[in-house]
Amino acid sequence: PAVIVAIDGPSGTGKSSTSKAVAARLGMSFLDTGAQYRAMTWWMISNGIDVTDTAAVATAAHKPVIDSGTDPAAPSITVDGADASGPIRTPEVTAKVSAVSAVPEVRAVITRLQRSIAAAAPHGIVAEGRDIGTTVLPDADVKVFLTASAEARAARRSGELGSTATADVAATREALIKRDAADSGRKTSPLAKAGDATEIDTTDLTLVQVIDRIVALVEE
Ligand code: C5P
Repeated sequence: PAVIVAIDGPSGTGKSSTSKAVAARLGMSFLDTGAQYRAMTWWMISNGIDVTDTAAVATAAHKPVIDSGTDPAAPSITVDGADASGPIRTPEVTAKVSAVSAVPEVRAVITRLQRSIAAAAPHGIVAEGRDIGTTVLPDADVKVFLTASAEARAARRSGELGSTATADVAATREALIKRDAADSGRKTSPLAKAGDATEIDTTDLTLVQVIDRIVALVEE
């Protein structure tokens, strides 16, 4: 049967770059589950739904048609057929995604979608997120939990956002900590390390070192 790899952890640990590269090296599919929660959030904002109105978000959760392209060389995401890869990375979506992803109906819809994508991947899948090893794919063959110091995570995320100015790094650090606290504190499927996951602290590792370790775990 096809191999399933679950990679979880907070933001700024290099999850996406690492997971994409592992999938490419092993000829597997790749799924960025954060992009799906971002796509749901973008749809809510675009349709005038107040993301703090839990009941409104819950009622609307089944409406957007979210589609993920799982080629690690060219991952894509569409919402109701429209390319969402740009809009899901705006600061507004980043600020609102934790509220939307805390709503149980949203998690139910997206978890179902994730399981069907994983089941259909012909050569297995590397799925990255916050609750893959604990909730979405608890029977995954390999589970990894990535961590890094708050400083390292803020520096990496600031680099991605295009500014390494001290004030920007500090603001990014505060935003990351706030989002992680919300993701870790929610009642349904919080950000958590599965009991049988291998934890890798990436603070002092290069991207290639992390990729090599995970590939070795899969090939074990
Ligand atoms: O990984 P990324 O930063 O794109 O994730 C965006 C948000 O999506 C997270 O902050 C979290 O609120 C939500 N998420 C989640 N469960 C996952 C993946 C992401 O709740 N498996």
